Order: sequence, then structure tokens, then C-alpha cells
Amino acid sequence: MTESTAPESFTQGPTDVELLEQTLAQNLDDTARRFADRAALLECGPDGDPATGRTWTYRQLREESVTVAKALMAAGYEAGDRIGMWSPNVAEWVSLLYGAARAGVILVNLNPAYRAHELTYVVEQCDMRGLVVACADARMDPPATARAVARESAPHLRQLIMLPAGSGEDAYAHVQAGDVAGRHAADPVAEGTWADFLAGAARVSDEDLAAREAATRPADPVNLQYTSGTTGFPKGVTLTHRNVLNNGFHIGELLGYTEEDTVVIPVPFFHCFGMVIGVIATVSHGSLAVIPARSFEPVSALRAVAATGATSLYGVPAMFIAMLARPEADALDLSTLRTGVMAGSTCPVEVMKKVIDRFHMSEVAICYGMTETAPVSTMTRRDDSLEVRTQTVGRTMPHVETKIVDPVTGDIVPRGATGELCTRGYSVMLGYWDAPEKTAEVLDADGWMHSGDLASMDEDGSVRIEGRIKDLVIRGGENISPREVEEFLYTHPDIQDVQVVGVPDEKYGEQLMACVIMKDGVEPLTVDAVREFAAGRIAHFKIPAHVRVLDAFPMTVSGKVRKVELREEGAKVVQAQAQAQAQAQAQAQSVG
Ligand code: AMP
Repeated sequence: MTESTAPESFTQGPTDVELLEQTLAQNLDDTARRFADRAALLECGPDGDPATGRTWTYRQLREESVTVAKALMAAGYEAGDRIGMWSPNVAEWVSLLYGAARAGVILVNLNPAYRAHELTYVVEQCDMRGLVVACADARMDPPATARAVARESAPHLRQLIMLPAGSGEDAYAHVQAGDVAGRHAADPVAEGTWADFLAGAARVSDEDLAAREAATRPADPVNLQYTSGTTGFPKGVTLTHRNVLNNGFHIGELLGYTEEDTVVIPVPFFHCFGMVIGVIATVSHGSLAVIPARSFEPVSALRAVAATGATSLYGVPAMFIAMLARPEADALDLSTLRTGVMAGSTCPVEVMKKVIDRFHMSEVAICYGMTETAPVSTMTRRDDSLEVRTQTVGRTMPHVETKIVDPVTGDIVPRGATGELCTRGYSVMLGYWDAPEKTAEVLDADGWMHSGDLASMDEDGSVRIEGRIKDLVIRGGENISPREVEEFLYTHPDIQDVQVVGVPDEKYGEQLMACVIMKDGVEPLTVDAVREFAAGRIAHFKIPAHVRVLDAFPMTVSGKVRKVELREEGAKVVQAQAQAQAQAQAQAQSVG
């Protein structure tokens, strides 16, 4: 190992496996040379059934990326132009990722939950030239929205490419109907199906594509991801081939991926978790990437694991909690699983232990990071102790540096002390698209990305996430990390999931509120019951003053709990309670 550690909270990751100096397309070409006829991509049919799905070998995936690249060139995309992908997880997502990269075009990941307002903002912010659009479903009609946005944002968006319906359905039925509906003769926007788009590839020669590929460099931008910050408009994180390829590749290395692995990916491709930890880690190792469903469904994911004999399964904690709660978790044979990744938000120790025991994922890893760092900065290793693998987010990634600093002075803090986690190295984004002042707020002159996360570093370099800087609840001068209280409440036998937030309090400034989802068939917990459970086991000020029992948490599409929303709702509940109490008191006094 070439890993070096210092007594202060600073570490450099190992450098024994070199960085890849390639583009994404060159990396796919390498894999396709080594494993041409092995399965690369499987998109399951309805209910996570592989038998009714679609598959690609590595040879076919490579060929399709060539077709997409030529089709983009035929449609007039120059190197550096932006094309958006506004779709849940479908196989075309992967072809476009590698096809756009091959043509030097920047892929813009769009959250499928976006509505017209958000879509228009992104289209205009990055001057998006074209947009690939998901087919309509029961809840949304993306083609209609995309047409309206194209008109609204003119002259930005010049091409709409309508995706077919997914596997097992009448692939083009909707698209042909939609082609006519809502069109206006004077619309300057070219519209066609995915098949029409691919047909354009015939007009571009191998030589022209080779010239474009030769001019594409690993340090060029290849991907734009809009982070859904808690305040203000989303910012476009600009990532290069070098950022995402190396991050994905090294994650795959640390998970021990080979061509024998099958990876079930229920997390969204529009987020780094699906795109980098999912697709790029898998493709760079010749493993098979499985799309169990267009968006997360616990049963489809479990069925896809059982039916494909998968070795690896991904999810944010809430997804694993949902999968563990299903009877299929016990009924289906999941014994082929060996590893997987849990990431995206705090991974409760109890959930990690269950995933290891019940899902047989003895080598499961926790990854920590953010979109701006491609995304993973630290990760648990397969040979870490159970304690390290369940209680920390692991050590610094290869070729990356991390440090923990005092958020006020910027000085590196000693091991064990809490501060802001910062990352430097190949993985750090180029910047926020067309927003140098926003970039300068988080990326300092020495190249350190400031995460806004509070963390501490153990003696062995393992990092513990203590919460977001803005997450801290300050109760009467006591700083409380909601994370710590969540971990504690998790040990209650009746609690399935829990989130702790701060709500306003007259006396203390803030008080803790525990938002709880109960396990099936148990009585809802009262505040008194929680107090009794916690009394003497955690410091009195960490015992929640309020308990709300909920059926579900408000979530982002990428599976993160919207804490801001929980906090706002919680504040309203507490305010209503206080008003009711004041009224009751006033009434009692007037009667008296
Ligand atoms: P995003 O850019 O959407 O990936 O969000 C990044 C944020 O997610 C980080 O700044 C953390 O606050 C949080 N996060 C990601 N992974 C973890 C993890 N393993 N444990 C705790 N928080 C995490």
C-alpha cells in the first residue's frame, strides 16, 4: 500500500492502481475487445422479469454507441454541444451516455420528476440543443411538456427525440400518436422518434467519426448534472471523462468486479449513483448491468436479483429498508449476492447489518460523496472490519485527498475532531456550468471542494459523517447531530425508519422532532413511549420533544429524504399544537 496517513485529519488515497487516461468511449471499446460476446446490459420486462426484457452484449453496446454518435453528428451536434436525457432508467440511457461521449457531446442528466418550469430553467441555463424524452405513462406526459418547453425556450432547444415505450409494451404505439398531437406547422423544433434519430447515422462516415473521436480528450467535459440544492436554482455540475470514468473504475476495483459479476441497479441513472457507481463501474469491468425497472420498485429489484443470479445490489438506505420490508426478501433466493453499495445519505448501522445477514451481501460497501466529486470520495473496503464497514463511510478513494477542516478558520482539525470534509484530486468537477461565482463558493484556489458535510476522521483514516453543517440542531446551546439520535432510535424494535429534525421552540430555540415510520402491525409510538425508551440511554437533551408517526417520508426522486420538508411540516405541527394549547388555556381562564 502506498497510502500515507498523518496525525491530523488529512489522508491521501492509495495510488497502486493507476488512473485511466482514456475517454469513456475508449474504455467501452477496451471492454468490448475483451468481452465482446458477454452480456453487457439487461433491461428487465415488467415486474423485474429478465425473460421479457431486452439485452445487449458488449459488442452490441459498442456498436450502438457508434450509431448514436454518428446520429448526433448527422443531426448537427458539434463537440461540446449539450443534449439532455429526460427519462427514467431505460437501456437507451446507457447507449446515449456512451454515444454522446464518443461524439464529444455533453450529456445533460435530467431528473424525470422535473416539470416544465425546472426543465425550461435547465434548457436555457446550459443552452441545450436537443432533448431525448421519455414516453408518457399514467402520471406524466413528457412529450407534451417537452414540446411546450421547446416553444417557450426558443431558440435554445432545436431537436426532440421521443423514446419508445419500454420492454414488453407496444414499443412505438404512443410515440406515433404523440408525433402528430400538439404539433404546430411553424414549430422550428425538429421532432422524431429514437428510431428516426438513429437512422441518421447512415449519413456519417467511419472516418468522420474517427476524426471526432481523435479530437476528444479525457479532460473534456462529458456530463452535466443539476444538483437539487436546498435553496436557489439548481447548479450544473460539469464533469469530465476523467472525473466519471476514473471514479466508476476505481469503485468497481474496490468492489472486486470482474466479467463474472451481475449488478442490479435500481438507483436512477440521472444521478451519479446510477450513472457512475452503476453503469461506469460495471462497464469498465465487463460486468453485466441490470435495469430491474424504470424507477425503483422493491419487488422488481429483488426479482431481478433472484432471476439473474446477481452478485451485487445497489440502493440508498430508504430503498434497502423498503426491500427488507417485503416478504419476497425472504421468499426469493438472493444467495448469489456478494456485494453492493449503499450510499446517498446516512446508512444506518442496523440496515447495513440486515443487508449483510439477510441479503448475503457480506462485502457490501458504503460510499460517500457528492455529485461535484464524481461522486465518491470515501468508501469502505472489503477487508475492513464489520465495525468500520457499518459505522463509517470508509477511507479516501485512490488518487484522491481528503481533509477535515474547521469551518470557520479553515485549519485542518486533529483526528477525531469534527469539521467540514473537503476533497481534492482528479474527481473534482470542472465547476458549475456558467456560474463561476457559485463555483468559487465551494471550490477554493488550491483545488479543494468544500462539501458542507460535517465529518470526523478516525486514527485509521476512516471517515464518519456527523451531519450536514446546516443540519445541526442547536438546542439551548447544545449542538445535536440528528444523525446520532436517528441511529439510537433505530434500535427501537417497533421502528422501521426514522428521521430527526429541529423544530422551533420558544424556550430552547430549537427542539428535536422524531419523524417515525412504524413497522407493520405495531402500535404508533407516543412521545412518552419514546422518552421512556431513551431515558438514561442517551443524554436528556437528545431525547426528542416531539414524535410524529408517518406512513412515508417526502422523498426526492434520487431517494433522499427531503429533510427540509420534514422540518417545515414539523414546525407547522408544533405551532398548531401551541396555538391549540394557548386557546385552551385562555378558555379555561375565562371560565374560571
Ligand atoms: P448528491 O450530490 O445528490 O449526491 O448529494 C451529496 C450529499 O449526500 C453529500 O454532501 C452528503 O450530505 C450526502 N451523502 C452522500 N453519501 C452519504 C453517506 N454515505 N452518508 C451520509 N451522507 C451521504
